[in-house]
Amino acid sequence: MNDNAAFPHLLAPLDLGFTTLANRTLMGSMHTGLEEEKGGFDKLAAFYRARAKGGVGLIVTGGISPNTRGRLAPFGCELSKFWHVGKHKKITAAVHEYPTKICLQLLHAGRYAYHPFSVSASKVKSPINPFTPKAMSVGQIKGTIKDFAHSAKLAKKAGYDGVEIMGSEGYLINQFSCVKVNKRTDEWGGSIENRMRLALEIIRAVRASAGDDFIIIFRLSMLDLVDGGNSWQDVVTMAKGVEAAGATLINTGIGWHEARVPTISTSVPRAAFTWITERMKKEVNVPLITTNRINTPEVAEEILSSGQADMVSMARPFLADENFVVKAAANKSDEINTCIGCNQACLDHVFKQQRASCLVNPTACYETELTFENAATKKKIAVVGAGPAGLAFSVYAAQRGHSVEIFDRGSEIGGQFNYAKQIPGKEEFFETLRYFNKQIALHDIALHLNQEQSAEQLVAAGFDEIVLATGIVPRALDIKGIDHEKVKSYIQVLRDKEPVGKRVAIIGAGGIGFDVAEFLVEEESLTTNPDKWLKSWGVDKNYQENGGLSTTRVSETPAREIYLLQRKTSKVGAGLGKTTGWIHRATLQKNGVQMLAGITYDEVNDEGLVISIDGKQQTLQVDNIIICAGQESERSLYRQLEAQGVNAHLIGGANVAAELDAKRAIRQAAELAAKI
Ligand code: FAD
Ligand code: NAP
Ligand code: SF4
Repeated sequence: MNDNAAFPHLLAPLDLGFTTLANRTLMGSMHTGLEEEKGGFDKLAAFYRARAKGGVGLIVTGGISPNTRGRLAPFGCELSKFWHVGKHKKITAAVHEYPTKICLQLLHAGRYAYHPFSVSASKVKSPINPFTPKAMSVGQIKGTIKDFAHSAKLAKKAGYDGVEIMGSEGYLINQFSCVKVNKRTDEWGGSIENRMRLALEIIRAVRASAGDDFIIIFRLSMLDLVDGGNSWQDVVTMAKGVEAAGATLINTGIGWHEARVPTISTSVPRAAFTWITERMKKEVNVPLITTNRINTPEVAEEILSSGQADMVSMARPFLADENFVVKAAANKSDEINTCIGCNQACLDHVFKQQRASCLVNPTACYETELTFENAATKKKIAVVGAGPAGLAFSVYAAQRGHSVEIFDRGSEIGGQFNYAKQIPGKEEFFETLRYFNKQIALHDIALHLNQEQSAEQLVAAGFDEIVLATGIVPRALDIKGIDHEKVKSYIQVLRDKEPVGKRVAIIGAGGIGFDVAEFLVEEESLTTNPDKWLKSWGVDKNYQENGGLSTTRVSETPAREIYLLQRKTSKVGAGLGKTTGWIHRATLQKNGVQMLAGITYDEVNDEGLVISIDGKQQTLQVDNIIICAGQESERSLYRQLEAQGVNAHLIGGANVAAELDAKRAIRQAAELAAKI
């Protein structure tokens, strides 16, 4: 144990025999997109250096393939030739400026490879990839084992302290270990002993090539969450085999990428899957790492102190705050910028082949490009609007030495985040507001709530710069009968808590339409009730069926009958987040919400909402109609200032309302603060 009063278990070193980790935090593997960018390794080195400086014990890099077929994408990163080593040295040298260790993740994508040369245990196509893999010959299997060993040797040459062998999430090794994909009848298929042979041979070969003083983490799929996944007995057999083959640590893998159970999104309760690592602790002696939706030092400490695991892996929380560990060590966990699990700037970007970053921390992966140097001239700056844009601007500008005053007409900071945080499963948004409240105090930012500023007041106060982050106004609609008492805006529902009847039509199926539908059908948020949440998604903690999925799902009776409507003919929800849209759709489907596209809104009357689809008119007999039809910029103050010849800066929704989200609002604010 460490003598830190608040987090003694989290900050305790971990002795691995030949080496010691500084503490129990592992920064989990994340592909950033910099791996493939020109000059990306210099930026990656800066990215990892910042996390090492911030005190993380062990870093695992994004997945790097041991050979060409195993690449995730045609130009994906590979470590197989001696000339690949040089660029990796930049990363390891940067990390080793601090007492942090770093392992390279070796990931063979198997049938998840997005190219026509993919291979797998058998010729079984994945539902999330258009390419059908070729079944590997025995020669190819043996060659692949050698490739892993060779890559590990090169990783050691590059200065890595070890490797993580990716054996979960449905990648190649996982494809071999489960009958779902492994249909082989030779010594690589059939019994679990045969199916896990590839994993064990790789571990042995890596150990032989890289030596005893080399960390080998094996990421074991403890819960496949797919039909045809392994039984608990198979998972235990494999864990024991992995331990005997020479792994230093076993990391917990939860769910294949194609699993239809959310495993890391914001609606997943914190630490919802640590019970599986705890269960495995009774079976093996090798130190175990647990993972998934652990985002605060308090949650991590609780896991470690209760003996559920020996280490805690957090990936996205280190994007959100590189100083997570040093802040915890200084008993300043209330200063941590908490990952809210939104996936908007990290996973959603990676899946769209864009560089990853973080919604709450736009400097992540931009360490050399978005920096906040001390201002040459200290300015007196007024910020109007304490939503995400105004808050982010104020903190970054104050950090540079400017004197900042922030005004909001509301009684609390946060703008629309105060509506977002009420949506079931979005409670993490509270953390962002807690973070900003703390930063306002730390940076001596003068906060004026309940103050609607006029142009005259702002001009009279003699500010050097005025930044308007006044957000949006909901779009008004021109539909016959729109003034009917049945009609409400989402603000009347979420802010004013106006009563809503049992039958509801929602006009507009963007992010807010979906959120309002969830708010109205789920009266109880399951984020604080992990067992109920697991049951609602069909996860069986007793592990009676293979893959950990239950044949029965427990669902609650929805609180209301809802229609969610859009004019477009495309799939409802098609514009939601790449990695989270399916969760929102599935949640509403479970609750019987009718999602209708291609709607024309004809009239609101005493009966309800009259609509037409394909020219056929019908009346949705509803008690209320809630408008979630997008937003327009709130610019009245800007126009008043303009009339007085003052050129204010516009950021966030006040700048461009279309497709505005907090990711864009915060990044734009940070970019302005960096140069003002
Ligand atoms: P706002 O948040 O609108 O803040 C503007 C502030 O300015 C307000 O506090 C207002 O009171 C103040 N103001 C305006 N005029 C004046 C004046 N004259 N004087 C003083 N104060 C003034 N985005 C995401 O990225 N992810 C999500 O999951 C997400 N979920 C959402 C869920 C809901 C239900 C809602 C409503 C929004 C959600 N959003 C989400 C959108 C996100 O909240 C907005 O994009 C973001 O808040 C925009 O930030 P902003 O600072 O530009 O404006
Ligand atoms: P939005 O995503 O732009 O959706 C607006 C909806 O209103 C669309 O369904 C649109 O569909 C409809 N609409 C637009 N004009 C209309 C009109 N004149 N009459 C009737 N319907 C109309 O905007 P939003 O839902 O207000 O969300 C605002 C921003 O917050 C979004 O950009 C989003 O990124 C962000 N947000 C994100 C999340 C998240 O989970 N990531 C959650 C909430 C909000 P049709 O035009 O087809 O009818
Ligand atoms: Fe976490 Fe969202 Fe940042 Fe990703 S973008 S690290 S999920 S806060």
